[in-house]
Amino acid sequence: NVPQRSNADILRLRKQLLNPTLSVSYNEPLKIVRGEGVWLYDQYGQAYLDMVNNVCHVGHCHPRVVAAGQAQMAQLNTNTRYLHDNIVEYALRLTATLPKPLSVVFLTNSGTEANDLALRLARAHTRAQGVVVVDHAYHGHSPSMVELSPYKFNGKGGAGQSPHVGVVGMPDTYRGPFREASTAGMQYGQLLPAAIDSLRQSGIAPAAFYCESLLGCGGQIVLPEGYLPEAYAAVRAAGGVCLADEVQVGFGRVGEHFWAFEHQGVVPDIVTLGKPIGNGHPMGAVVTTPEIAASFVSGMEYFNTFGGNPVSCAIALAVLDVIADEQLQENARRVGAFLMEGLRELQQRHDCIGDVRGRGLFVGAELVRDCEARTPDQPKAKAVVEAMKARHVLLSTEGPDDNVLKIKPPIVFSQANAEEFLDKLDQVLRES
Ligand code: PMP
Repeated sequence: NVPQRSNADILRLRKQLLNPTLSVSYNEPLKIVRGEGVWLYDQYGQAYLDMVNNVCHVGHCHPRVVAAGQAQMAQLNTNTRYLHDNIVEYALRLTATLPKPLSVVFLTNSGTEANDLALRLARAHTRAQGVVVVDHAYHGHSPSMVELSPYKFNGKGGAGQSPHVGVVGMPDTYRGPFREASTAGMQYGQLLPAAIDSLRQSGIAPAAFYCESLLGCGGQIVLPEGYLPEAYAAVRAAGGVCLADEVQVGFGRVGEHFWAFEHQGVVPDIVTLGKPIGNGHPMGAVVTTPEIAASFVSGMEYFNTFGGNPVSCAIALAVLDVIADEQLQENARRVGAFLMEGLRELQQRHDCIGDVRGRGLFVGAELVRDCEARTPDQPKAKAVVEAMKARHVLLSTEGPDDNVLKIKPPIVFSQANAEEFLDKLDQVLRES
C-alpha cells in the first residue's frame, strides 16, 4: 500500500528525488487519483472535465481496454522472439486502416522511439543524412529527435539548429506570410526546395521530411489544402522520403478520416504513431512501405525488448475495437464540428478570440489583444486556463507565443461536454 501524501509533500519529494526539469500544470497543482471517460478526479472526489488528454483516446480507463490488458498480463508477457497471435493480428488490423503501400509495421514503446527508428529507416533507404522539419515542431525527446525539434533546439536550453537539419516556416494561414485560402498551401509547400538547397550547400542530401499532419506544438494548426502534395513532391524529387507524424492526431481524432494526412490526399512513405495507440499504455509504431523496410535489412537486427509484446498488442487491439464499436471517429467529427461552431459563435462576442481552427476533436482557439493586429495575448491565455480549472475544466496552451487554447479531449467527448465547456468559457471571458 502506497502512503497517501498531501500535495505539498508530493511536490517536495518530486523536487528532492525526481528529474529537476519536470514541470507541473497549474499554479496550484492538482493531485489526480482516478480517471473515467472524459473525467479526472482529485483526491477529494472533485471531477474535472479533461480537454487536453489525447493519450487516453477512447476515455480514461476504458473498461474494455483495461480488461484486455489485465487478461493478457495474467496469461503471458514476453518479447517478440516467440510466435504469438496478438502481434500479427494487430499488424493486420493496423495496416488495414492505412493506404497501400504502407504495410510493414515496427512496434515501439513511444512516439520518440517510433520517430527515431523512422530516421534510421529513411537514412538506410536514401543513403542520405539530412532532414527537413517544420518550425516549432516537436518529434521526441531522444538526442536525434531533439535535433529534429525546433520547439526544443530553438527553445530554452536548446543547442540550436544542427547542420543536417533544414527548417521550413509553419504553414500558418493566420500569422504566416501566405493567408489566401486557395493558394497558401501551395505557397508554403514551395518553401521546401529552398530548405533542401541550403542543406545541399553544406554538402548534405535530404533523407526525409518530417511533418505532423496537424501541427501540435506549433499551435493546433491545420495544414492548408495542397500543402503536403507540394511539399512531398519537392522532397521526393530531391531523393528524400516523406514522414507523417500522427503521434498526436491519429486514430480517428480528426473525424472525417482515420488518419489526419488523408485530409491532404497524400500517401506518406512512413507514418509514425504513439500516444492514443495504447490509450495510455506506453506504445508507438512505425508503418512503412515494403521497399523502405527492405532497405533497412543490412544484417543488423532491429530488436526492441518491449515493443510488440502480447500485452501491448492486446491493449492496442482493444483500442481499435472500441473506436469502431463506439463509432468514435464519427463522434469526433460531429462533436468537433459542434465545438468549433460554438467557439466561432463566442468569437463573435469576445474580441480576444482571434482565430478558431481545427479538425474533429483537435481544436485551437488563439487569444489576441487586438483582433486587427493579431497581437498574441499569452497572459490572457494563461489566465483563462487557470479560470477554467477553477470551474473544473482542464485546458492547456500551445503555440510559439503560448497563446493558443489547446483542445484535444478523449474522443468520447460528448455534445453535453462541449456545451458545458462553451458555457464556462463564455463566463470566464465575460469576467476577464
Ligand atoms: N511526435 C509528436 C507530434 C508528439 O506530440 C510527441 C509527444 N508530445 C512525440 C512525437 C513524442 O512522443 P513520446 O512522448 O511518446 O515519446
